[in-house]
Amino acid sequence: MDLKHLKRKDSKRFIKVGDTVIGDGFTVIAGPCAVESEEQIYFSAKRLKELGINIIRGGIFKPRTSPHSFQGLGLEGLKYLDTVKKEFGVYVVSEVMDPRDIDSMFPFVDIFQIGSRNMQNFSLLKEVGRAKKPVLLKRGMASTIREWLLAAEYIAEEGNLDIILCERGIRTFENYTRNTLDLSSVPIVKELTFLPIIVDPSHGTGLKSLILPMSKASIACGSDGLMIEVHPDPKRALSDGRQSLSFEEFERVWREIRNFYKCLEEFKNQSLL
Ligand code: PEP
Ligand code: MN
Repeated sequence: MDLKHLKRKDSKRFIKVGDTVIGDGFTVIAGPCAVESEEQIYFSAKRLKELGINIIRGGIFKPRTSPHSFQGLGLEGLKYLDTVKKEFGVYVVSEVMDPRDIDSMFPFVDIFQIGSRNMQNFSLLKEVGRAKKPVLLKRGMASTIREWLLAAEYIAEEGNLDIILCERGIRTFENYTRNTLDLSSVPIVKELTFLPIIVDPSHGTGLKSLILPMSKASIACGSDGLMIEVHPDPKRALSDGRQSLSFEEFERVWREIRNFYKCLEEFKNQSLL
């Protein structure tokens, strides 16, 4: 593949986000699909921090299929992200949809998310490439792995190599699930590039009951982490409520994911002996 900046080499890229590192060990990012109110994000960040989650997600610009659906709080949401960052010391990942918003978001966001629908928005890619902040690049829902990695090259071409790839499923003829979570991309990406890759089983399946098994599968195939949607009251969520875990559900999933990861690490260490 014609990768110039991101071609695999001996060392992996570790991406520093405050005092945490993505690519070294296993990172779980969690939070609501969208920031809906100060109370909602405050409660979410508090519970997640208590569980030991340091990077939270929450969109303030939502790319919705219908223009009549909730579009996100927009820049008002930045105030609430700022509050939780200061109060709980968490880091924040949030989607940027328009290059004109990068400057206003910059002080409040620790990782810029490029959503599936914008994976090939080349002017947006170039602009986040110039911003000195890590980028979470989701796979386009109809993109090949080559197109995805070349989208990452656009960011790298501008000098920003702090790119985290995120597999979020692709559209196939299967419609029982929201998307088909293509976990084969994880080892393929690792063969081709030095970038870390995480998996989003929430958008990848659209089904709560699949989050735990697909999270375990992601760990088993070498993912560097996960991004999971969780909401204080999923039934009342303004976006993606059906696929969002409640905090009680998330806690159970989180405990199992941690145990599974630990077991696998022990197994790897033993087989080296
Ligand atoms: C999201 O993360 O909420 C989102 C909109 O994801 P995607 O771009 O993968 O659909
Ligand atoms: Mn969502």
